[in-house]
Amino acid sequence: MKKKKFLEKKLKKIAYERVDTLMKLAEEEAKKGRWDRVKRYVYLARRIAMKMRLKFPKKWKRRICKKCGTFLLYGRNARVRVKSKRYPHVVITCLECGAIYRIPMIREKKEKRRKKLEKKLKAKNKVVE
Ligand SMILES: [Zn+2]
Repeated sequence: MKKKKFLEKKLKKIAYERVDTLMKLAEEEAKKGRWDRVKRYVYLARRIAMKMRLKFPKKWKRRICKKCGTFLLYGRNARVRVKSKRYPHVVITCLECGAIYRIPMIREKKEKRRKKLEKKLKAKNKVVE
């Protein structure tokens, strides 16, 4: 049982490395403008991750379009904008298929919430005093 788990871990590590390599290749090809190859690499990387039930590497997670499966080269085929309306977030637009990805800036939000809570607590303490 223990041995099996060990083996699984090892296999996952290999798969993870493979995904990383494929994504690096995809980035290189994207810079060269060979989009058909890019799509193939991304497809393979995603398939390996899925088959091995890997979490897609954080580093690459935001670099692929989930809709059309291309590599997002910021400034080339993807637009990145920071928005603060309603809540602070980053918007990534795939210029190939028009898919929009909103990434909330949670860390900033949490900080804001914490500050608010601190203020509240301070106010409460004053009442107790
Ligand atoms: Zn797309």
